[in-house]
Order: sequence, then structure tokens, then C-alpha cells
Amino acid sequence: MSVNAASLAGSVPDPECRWSWSDVDLDRSMLCKLRERGFIVKVEEQEWRATGELIREICNYGGISEGEVAEHVCGSCPGCIQQRIEARRERRERREREDGSRVGPGESEQAELPGVED
Ligand SMILES: [Zn+2]
Repeated sequence: MSVNAASLAGSVPDPECRWSWSDVDLDRSMLCKLRERGFIVKVEEQEWRATGELIREICNYGGISEGEVAEHVCGSCPGCIQQRIEARRERRERREREDGSRVGPGESEQAELPGVED
């Protein structure tokens, strides 16, 4: 692959996603290169997808784990929906942690009580 694999990490759509060229954060020239190499394929008019091979190439050349390469961009495939659910849960858990540390006695206070022995 003559393109810089590492530079693609994080900008390449997940193979599950369907997208148009204007949806993704890649130059037109880069998209042309990827198309020439068969790393992105047309599904329908204005609908493209990245191949699993592209993801593997980037991982191999860039020494990057698969989870860090692809981005979920379409918002409607199972992977995107799953990612949205997880992102929402993470946000909620973070908020709960932050709320918990502000109000009431936290675990850290109890752990610091003097005179407690094992
Ligand atoms: Zn998707």
C-alpha cells in the first residue's frame, strides 16, 4: 500500500458502514487510491463501504489494533448502533461517578478513617 497506513487510522469507516464520499474524513485523492486498490467498494449509487482487507492492511502496516482503525460513520448499521449505545452508557456512568464524588460520603473518606486495622 503506497498510502500512509497510520494516517488512515481513525478516519476509515468500519466495513459495516455504508457512506458517501462526502461523509468521511478522507481526501478525494485518497479515496481514489483506495478505490483503485479495491479497498473501498461501491455498494449502490452514492453508497460505499470499506473492505475488511483495508482494515487489516492498516493494522499490519501501522501496527495498530483493529479497534482503533475503523470509525463508525453511518449511524444505522448494527456496529454503529452498538457504539452509540456504549457511548451513551459510558457518558451516563461517568456522570454518575462525578455526581457520586461530589455528594455524600465517598468510599475514599471511609478508607481514610484513622484507627482502622485489618
Ligand atoms: Zn455504521
